[in-house]
Amino acid sequence: MTARRIAIVPHTHWDREWYKSYQDFRLALVELIDTLIPLLEHDASYPHFMLDGQMAVVDDYLEVRPEAEERLRALAAAGRLSVGPWYILMDEFLASGETIVRNLQMGIERGAAFGGAMDVGYLPDMFGHIAQMPQILRLAGFGDAVVWRGVPSQVTEDAFVWEAPDGSTVRAEYLPVGYSNGAALPDDAKALVRRTVDHLEEVGALVPGDLLCMNGSDHLMPQPWLGRVVAEANDLQDDLHFEVTSLSSYLAGASTEGLTVVEGELRSGFRANMLMGVTSNRVDVKRQGALAERELERRAEPLAALFQPASSYPARLLELAWREMVRNSAHDSICACSVDDVVDAVLHRYAEARAIAAGLADRAVKAFATSLADPGTSVLNPSPRARSGVVELVVPADGPAPAQVQVLSERSGLPGSMVLDANTVRTVLGMLQGPRIDDDAWVQEIRIEDTDEGIDVTLAVGTEERPNVPIAEAKQDLYTRLGARPDVMVRVAMEQPSTRKIVARTGEVAGYGWTTFEPAALEHPVEISETEGSTLLANGLVRVEIDPVSGTFALDGVAGYGRLVDGGDLGDSYNYSPPQLDSVVDTPESVTVRVDERGPVRARGRITTIYVWPDHVDGRSQERVGEQRVAVETDVELRADEPAVRVTTSFVNPSGDHRLRVHLPLPEPARLSHAESAFAVVTRGLTAEGRVDEFGLPTAPSNRFVTAGRLTVAHEGVCEYELVDIDDSGAKTLALTVLRSTGMLSRLGMAYRPFPAGPLTPVEGLQMRGKRVSLRYALALDCDDPYGLADDVLLPLETVASLGGGTRPASGSALAVHGAEVSALHRVGDVLEVRVFNPSEKPTVVSFPGRAGWLVDLRGYPREAFEGSFELRAFGIATARLRDG
Ligand SMILES: [Zn+2]
Repeated sequence: MTARRIAIVPHTHWDREWYKSYQDFRLALVELIDTLIPLLEHDASYPHFMLDGQMAVVDDYLEVRPEAEERLRALAAAGRLSVGPWYILMDEFLASGETIVRNLQMGIERGAAFGGAMDVGYLPDMFGHIAQMPQILRLAGFGDAVVWRGVPSQVTEDAFVWEAPDGSTVRAEYLPVGYSNGAALPDDAKALVRRTVDHLEEVGALVPGDLLCMNGSDHLMPQPWLGRVVAEANDLQDDLHFEVTSLSSYLAGASTEGLTVVEGELRSGFRANMLMGVTSNRVDVKRQGALAERELERRAEPLAALFQPASSYPARLLELAWREMVRNSAHDSICACSVDDVVDAVLHRYAEARAIAAGLADRAVKAFATSLADPGTSVLNPSPRARSGVVELVVPADGPAPAQVQVLSERSGLPGSMVLDANTVRTVLGMLQGPRIDDDAWVQEIRIEDTDEGIDVTLAVGTEERPNVPIAEAKQDLYTRLGARPDVMVRVAMEQPSTRKIVARTGEVAGYGWTTFEPAALEHPVEISETEGSTLLANGLVRVEIDPVSGTFALDGVAGYGRLVDGGDLGDSYNYSPPQLDSVVDTPESVTVRVDERGPVRARGRITTIYVWPDHVDGRSQERVGEQRVAVETDVELRADEPAVRVTTSFVNPSGDHRLRVHLPLPEPARLSHAESAFAVVTRGLTAEGRVDEFGLPTAPSNRFVTAGRLTVAHEGVCEYELVDIDDSGAKTLALTVLRSTGMLSRLGMAYRPFPAGPLTPVEGLQMRGKRVSLRYALALDCDDPYGLADDVLLPLETVASLGGGTRPASGSALAVHGAEVSALHRVGDVLEVRVFNPSEKPTVVSFPGRAGWLVDLRGYPREAFEGSFELRAFGIATARLRDG
């Protein structure tokens, strides 16, 4: 009989930040790698160590010990140390698909400097796995994944074939008890044999053959005696053959013969905690992440790639912004199952990434403005799809406003002037730091004139910014003149024409295109009618009727949208947990409805509801106790020619230990939901697999939109949703979590998860008391293009004022892409790269009219040339590099 192989892979699992801050954990990381390097260099019996599948640990270490880089490279190149392939071990559901791809590309590229990244798609601790991961791994050249959480009951052995919606497969090595089954091995051969035999008994049929023994765990140091103990254990007996190896060698040549095939996302709690409640804790982190992602993916990169010359493409700044996004995608970072210092750091990184992206996008828009031939206002479309939309802008108020334009406010000009003494002038001008004097007024010119009576200063103010207004020079000039005539009086005059702020619908603007702003005729203007019993907003496409008693609204006759349901949550950052004596508040104390805008372009009603929510959950009695009065403001908006209603709900959270959801009735009962996930729309049922240790709560994440029972909800930031009100016909309501507020990182004895998932640390920030919470979403019935709806709601058309003087015509498109959704449009070197995906179950033809280029894989290797178009399989992802057109 041959001995059973016990393959020991020494490693550590390095959460970069979690229950301690990044810097705290890094001090320990430096100690670990300081110990590891000499161990590997001097002890041949300790052959290998895996640095957790992520390059961030290497960079974080080298920032402290730059002199160690050559030694690390030598060890990695000699196969003694595995690094990468990820830059960070991310969460797959809360980061965008593009962030996941960039993470992998950053890890592979950085790993190349160390002789190459590990060739295994290592996913040890992620809270479930996205459906498209096998395709992403295949497109980067990986044939193996390693997973733990999320694996369904259908899998009965330690390996399976995992298939993405496009049919791509990888062999998935399943870690039945996680990445720590061989952590802290005994320093004694007999004990090692005994422990291994016990472990084999424990895993039983799940591990029919060789045992992969993962020798490490969270932040654990290497065990230097391992080689000796393994040799002694092999001498001691013949049933088990121990060896210390790498994950990559262990998986090399592993067979897929006869393995169970599992399709799609892995979100089962059947054998390991899914921790699905991380989607709804610290909703501010999820919103800020989405805002930064959008600024970077949908504005900064495409606008800079299309409207700035390749030579001034801000590659390095974009890389810095991406590094912050990728760092934040770490599973304990974006999941916010961390202490407050960590969450503060995450929010700061998002703010930095967003500031870089917004600044770069603004510069690209300015470059576009100066490239236009003619002066005037243009509309720019940052989305790849042709569309019209509603824009808001300030225009000179000359003559009456056209009928198709809605005036929001008028401002009469400030002709007039003041006579000031020299000191007052200095104070007043000292405050003028730049050309902008308020939201929509810019100093466009300063004229200074000496007269016999004194000095005349004239500020010409307009509605658009002019480049290079010499404000500092003018101030200096004036100060010099004042120095020469110290007692002079100064007459300061403002020349400001009357203006009005308007909203108007534009005509159609090409994808990645622009056109001159021209208010379009309204085919379906919005009208408001108010009666005692209701406020009605209608545009001939959809009717919204606000009920002044419940504070909810009806959509095309279906009542009850926007009902806020507040219940207790004595859970933790990982899981929701209703208290034993829960009480639910879903009726407001009072409701007021006000109409803020009356059409015809845009109508908006504000519903203010006052609720009395309990203050917190009493831990002993498990009751919600205390009272907090809260004003929730909900804006309901309808636009001309749009079949969607836009909603924003906002309040300052006064209470702790609670979960607030907005209930959205389904016009038809549903047994399935279809939610946006990375590079796909995934279909989910009404239940989720769980077990005694974690109830299978069927709450799930949606990236930007979810559809069920004829209703599509497009929303800002990843949201948690659940289909509820279930009877024999299916679910009648979709509940969207607005806020989940708990005070503990992890907790013991919860309703749905009895054992802790992390340290039992109180974390005040998780309560989000005193914070403003806003949820923005849109509702549409029978929507056949949810990606388009999400773009309309979240990525508006932009207005651009131009002085002309360039060569660009008044309308056009910088790039036409048809037939697929665009995930990325950016430059790689001098070349325009576009990543597209096909979210449909039918093959598509992706066309770039008039352009040719190469399809490349995620490592950038050319795969196939194309002219004008190429075919893309159902649910496929493709990356195209375009030759200059
Ligand atoms: Zn972890």
